[in-house]
Order: sequence, then structure tokens, then C-alpha cells
Amino acid sequence: MTNDAIVIGSGIGGLVTATQLAAKGAKVLVLERYLIPGGSAGYFDRQGYRFDVGASMIFGLGQNGTTNLLTRALSSVNVSQEAIADPVQIHYHLPQGLDLKVDRVYEKFLQNLTAHFPHQEKGIRRFYDECQKVFKCLNSMDLLSLEEPRYLLRVFFQHPLACLGLAKYLPQNAGDVARRYIKDPQLLKFIDMECYCWSVVPSDMTPMINAGMVFSDRHYGGVNYPKGGVGQIAQKLVEGLEKAGGKIQYQARVTKILTEQGKAVGVQLANGKVYRGKRIVSNATRWDTFAQLLPPEEMPHNEKKWQQNYQKSPSFLSLHIGVKESVLAAGTECHHILLEDWEKMTAAEGTVFVSIPTLLDPDLAPNGYHIIHAFTPHYIDDWQKLSPSEYEGKKEEAAWRIIDRLEKIFPGLDAGLDYLEVGTPRTHRRFLGREDGTYGPIPRRKLWGLLNMPFNRTAIPGLYCVGDSTFPGQGLNAVAFSGFACAHRIAVDLGF
Ligand SMILES: Cc1cc2nc3c(=O)[nH]c(=O)nc-3n(C[C@H](O)[C@H](O)[C@H](O)COP(=O)(O)OP(=O)(O)OC[C@H]3O[C@@H](n4cnc5c(N)ncnc54)[C@H](O)[C@@H]3O)c2cc1C
Repeated sequence: MTNDAIVIGSGIGGLVTATQLAAKGAKVLVLERYLIPGGSAGYFDRQGYRFDVGASMIFGLGQNGTTNLLTRALSSVNVSQEAIADPVQIHYHLPQGLDLKVDRVYEKFLQNLTAHFPHQEKGIRRFYDECQKVFKCLNSMDLLSLEEPRYLLRVFFQHPLACLGLAKYLPQNAGDVARRYIKDPQLLKFIDMECYCWSVVPSDMTPMINAGMVFSDRHYGGVNYPKGGVGQIAQKLVEGLEKAGGKIQYQARVTKILTEQGKAVGVQLANGKVYRGKRIVSNATRWDTFAQLLPPEEMPHNEKKWQQNYQKSPSFLSLHIGVKESVLAAGTECHHILLEDWEKMTAAEGTVFVSIPTLLDPDLAPNGYHIIHAFTPHYIDDWQKLSPSEYEGKKEEAAWRIIDRLEKIFPGLDAGLDYLEVGTPRTHRRFLGREDGTYGPIPRRKLWGLLNMPFNRTAIPGLYCVGDSTFPGQGLNAVAFSGFACAHRIAVDLGF
């Protein structure tokens, strides 16, 4: 029997699409090139440590509202995930002594920030309160496909004010809103960093919808760490998928999306095997989908246009570190951001992101040790055309530059090292199957908020995209949104 839907890739976007469709009774097959599900939300085990591949600051695992999309996706297929509340989203270590914690409690965060910028007290509150307005609109409605007119009509009649609010913010960027209320240049730099640390672009290019979501949900559903590691989310979704009758195959690398009379009808694997489906969903990036899985010379016009608006963000240099617990002072927070010079915020090796998940879930490391995952933007071009020994040497040099900088916030890190593994953009490309190891699309220039970000349907009938190359972009909760929307649109198209 033909599959109702074939999903290429088991990232969180692909798995949410698959589980939502399976829960509605569709026959779904997920094809994953790697050994385990999760993509950038996967994990790997080394010498008693369980390292997250990427994501570790997790939104969407809350209990209330409608924006807790990971919790909702899991419960749709009768599984659940224990979540450990993180009391502080980020501890910033920024230039000019701007040392600041983003507390889970909104008022406490505003107080912490105002203590550094007392002359901007009103502006700070007005900016973040405006972000809360965006969030309240989002958090009052079911988040499904914006490509489905009947849903849009229903939501509009149920929540007219929230819809009008969102329509107003859709073309806006966070930087423009911030500058209405804030004048202090250093504070504006801080707002840039608040955006950059998840959108990887400054506030001028960060859509207000995404900023409103992140800057508010951290104080509502909060940042929560999944017990057992981030990889658990994908594992649980697969468990739910299979319970609901869906199937997943690993080591199943799709090399071609098959079309007949211009319509997507199936896929071909690297081993030559062919699977047919009524609908094909690609969870690979748009660059991989339209240049690798389909003939690049037949790229649809709107995809070319999209590439004129969006480019690949850099990838990362990742240090997966095991350290003696004595390295971390009492009261150390789970997530840190380190930058010494504002001018270098967006440069390769400028901003360093740090996650210490064992502070929330000690079972991820051997007794008496912690995990430190440190990563910083890096471009693939700097890692090409190297001999194996040059590559290893370059990795080591780069890793020690980062460790030296981290010594400032974790004195004794070098002496307390127990394990170190370094990943480069090449590692990200290879293991995550993402062109150039990119973190995802970023605007080439200032755009109208989220207006240019495509939804799930593509110019090729029968082919849909899901994940961070679609509305609303990167992050686990964002790609879960994309998954809900994609499954909703397909279910309507197939009459489920
Ligand atoms: C270092 C790092 C840190 C991050 N930190 C955070 C964070 O703290 N919080 C947060 O929310 N987000 C974070 N993110 C971003 C987040 O992880 C991603 O936005 C999200 O996981 C992307 O999900 P996705 O569904 O789009 O696809 P992916 O995770 O890219 O998954 C796609 C899947 O498709 C498979 N695939 C690709 N091509 C094929 C093919 N041809 N055949 C078969 N299978 C294929 C891949 O193997 C992969 O499993 C981070 C990312 C990185 C890299």
C-alpha cells in the first residue's frame, strides 16, 4: 500500500510532522540517513558522558498555554518527557563588565538589567512588555498551518485582537522596536546579543515574532532541560510514532526525490530502493532539498528568490568537554555566553556559547564530573582543503583558544579536563546532513520580519518542507511549530 506521507529526515521538524499525521491515522514512513533520530537535537555517548550534539536550551516543554509545542507533540502520541526547570536562561559575560543573569522570573530579570542601566528603566520595561504582547497573542491560539484558509478564518473569529496583533508584528524586526524605547548604545548592543544568541543575527534582522516568543516564553513556560538529555525528545517522538502505527528506518539516505509530470511521488535511497508516497516531506535544509535531492537546474523560481533573500548562517566549532566537578564553583548556571569585544559579536570565534547540562541532570556524566559543551560560529571554508594532520592541528589550536577564554569564567578548566572532543563545520555537515554544516537560514540584509520566510508547501506539487528552513526558523520549539503546520496542511490536503 502506498504511504500517505514519506518524511525525509527525523529532526524534530520531521518527527513532529510524522507523529501528528500518524495520530490522525495517516500511513507514515520516516527515512533517516543516520543511526539515531534527532538531527541537531541528537546525542552521542563517550566514556560515560552523554553529550548533546547541539540544542540544549529548550523551550516548548512547559505545561500551559498553546506555545508548549514539544509537550503537545509528545502527548499527541501518548508519550511524555520529564523536564527539569532551569532557573536562569543565560548568564551573560559581556564587554564593559556587563555581567548579568536572565532569571526565569520576569521582574527579577528586569531588575537585574535595570541595575546596569538605571537611566533606561522605563525603556527596558516598555521594550520587553511589548515582546510580552506578541507572546500573549501567540499563546492564546492553536498554532497550525497559516496556509490553511479555513483555520485562519476560525482563529480570526475566535481571537480577532490577537490575530490583528500578530499581523502588525509580522513585518517588524526586534531592533526597530527596541530603538523606539532604548537609546543607550551599550544597552542596544545587549539587545543585539539577546537576539544573536539564538537567531545568529543582530536585532535589526531578527523578526519581532521570534523575539517576542523567546523573550517572553523564558519567563512563562521557561527553559527546561529534558531528563536523560536532549536526545530523549526525538527518542520519545519515535516511540510515539511507532505506537501510532508509523514507521522509521535508519541508515536510509534519500538521494533523490522522484517526480512524475512535475509532481513529487516518491524517493530513492542511496542503495537504490524506491518508496512511493502521496505526499513527500523534506526535513533536510532547503539547500539540500532543492540542489541535492532535486536537479539544481530545475530549481523553482521562488526558491531562487528565497536564496536571494536568505543565506546559510555559519556552522559551529564545538568543544564537548568532560571536567572534574571541582572546576565549577557553587551556584554556576547551566547556560553562559561569553564575549570580550562587541565588535566581534558576529565574527567567527567571537561569541562563545556554553551549556553545562549536568548541573540540571547529573546522570549525563560519571560521578564527580560535569559536561561543558562550548560552541562558537565557524565557517566551513576555513576547514576545507586540509591534510588530515593539518585538520587535527587546526582543531587543537582552535580548541585551546576557546579553553583559554573559558578559563576566565571557569578557572582551573584546563587542569580539570577529563575528556575533550572537537567538532568542526565538517563534522556538522557530515553527521547532521546539512549543507556546509549551517545552523540555518539568516537574512542576507534587513527584511520585513518573517514575511519572506516560506511555509510548508513548495512550488512542486506533493512536496513539502519542514524544519528550520521554513517559517518560523531555528530552534526546537520553532521547528515543532513548522511540524504542526506541515502535518495540518497535509492532513487537509489528504482529507484526514
Ligand atoms: C550547536 C547547536 C546548538 C543549538 N542550540 C539550540 C538550543 O539551545 N535551543 C534550540 O531550541 N535550538 C538550538 N539549536 C537549533 C536546533 O537544534 C535546530 O534548529 C533544530 O534541531 C533543527 O531541526 P530540523 O527539524 O529543522 O532539522 P535537523 O535537526 O537538521 O534534522 C534533519 C534530519 O534529517 C536527516 N536528513 C537530512 N538529509 C537526509 C537525507 N537525504 N536522507 C535521510 N535523512 C536525511 C538528518 O540526518 C537529520 O536527522 C542548536 C543547533 C546547533 C547546531
